[in-house]
Amino acid sequence: MYAVYIFGGILAVLLAAVIFAPMVERKSVREAESPTAEGRKARALDALRELEFEYETDKMADSDYNRLRAHWANEAIAARDSLGESTEQPVEGGCPVCGAALRSGAKFCSRCGQAVTGAAEGV
Ligand SMILES: [Zn+2]
Repeated sequence: MYAVYIFGGILAVLLAAVIFAPMVERKSVREAESPTAEGRKARALDALRELEFEYETDKMADSDYNRLRAHWANEAIAARDSLGESTEQPVEGGCPVCGAALRSGAKFCSRCGQAVTGAAEGV
């Protein structure tokens, strides 16, 4: 008699897992592909804060910390650059296609979208 309830309970849990797992997955994918630079910057800064916290509470190995910190710092810098918040000096010569001034570290021209190589601090 009770076996029926136990089986039913297990079935319900499995069903819930099947229904909710894809939703959770989709959410994390959407966050990973945050479309705006503003969102990317906020996410990177959040991740850095979380990282500092976990490192300080000894939940994280030095190697993991250094690797993740570099990753999120780059992400924050890239997002900041695309927001136009960079305080760095423009690259000399500018865009090879349209001549627009380029920020240091820029990978694309902000005016025409030309991929820029040779700019400083390429990742
Ligand atoms: Zn250009």
